[in-house]
Amino acid sequence: MSLKRKVAVVTGSTSGIGLGIARALATSGADLMLNGFGDPAAIEQERARIAASFGVRVGYSPADMSKPEQIAGMVADAERTLGAVDILVNNAGIQYVANIEDFPPERWDAIIAINLSAVFHAMKAAIPGMKRRGWGRIINIASAHGLVASMQKVAYVAAKHGVVGMTKVAAIELANSGVTVNAICPGWVKTPLVERQLEARAGQEGISVEQAAERFLAEKQPMLRFSTPEGIGALAVFLCSDGAGTITGAPLSIDGGWVAQ
Ligand code: NAD
Repeated sequence: MSLKRKVAVVTGSTSGIGLGIARALATSGADLMLNGFGDPAAIEQERARIAASFGVRVGYSPADMSKPEQIAGMVADAERTLGAVDILVNNAGIQYVANIEDFPPERWDAIIAINLSAVFHAMKAAIPGMKRRGWGRIINIASAHGLVASMQKVAYVAAKHGVVGMTKVAAIELANSGVTVNAICPGWVKTPLVERQLEARAGQEGISVEQAAERFLAEKQPMLRFSTPEGIGALAVFLCSDGAGTITGAPLSIDGGWVAQ
């Protein structure tokens, strides 16, 4: 699969799943715009490493996905410096865990802004160029929580269900434009977002982080193993291929059987 001369913007690609997707797209030859927070020196090192390893152009945008004008700026920046946005991966996301009555309103607002509204703002900015060029791939990273619920994740579950709905709307609006829009719905993936939940559970229950991981998997994921950023990256690359040209509006599970139950 060659994505040479395609340009991909991957939000939240300084860590975890986003970084896995960015690397997979670069392996296939795509130029990249990275985005996300973190130590500037570490981000620059990763940017340079991907560029050198795969012989692709790699930029970085520090845009904050909770700020609509910065999201539009990131897309404009990619178009100006890399020439286009052919592939948009909406991946940036955060989590907060509490019962509804204890859920801080500002955490609700932040999760809705970053996990849900940012997907709308980024698609709105990128779609005109994709339509003009007659080709595009939009991949929204939803979650098993875009399809089913868990306790104590009200904002996250609401946002991810919204992402799946928004994906379907965009897919049918763009059905005859050469642009496909799909949602990837991962189950547990061991990234910093989940490691924080593992540590919290280990602390609450007086168990090791490894035991907390076993309990997380036993409760949700029949395969009893984590999905990986590499696996999700491979699925994203497939969705960019010609073979996936008629896959659109689909929530695609990569969850070890989580939502099959
Ligand atoms: P992570 O914490 O490792 O990475 C999150 C990324 O988003 C980081 O690069 C971070 O800097 C960036 N980010 C956070 N807030 C941002 C903001 N305001 N603006 C720009 N960037 C911001 O988490 P992850 O597990 O890799 O999660 C990536 C996506 O995958 C999220 O949308 C998450 O909901 C989803 N997901 C994760 C899992 C899992 O088990 N890890 C499962 C299903 C879905």
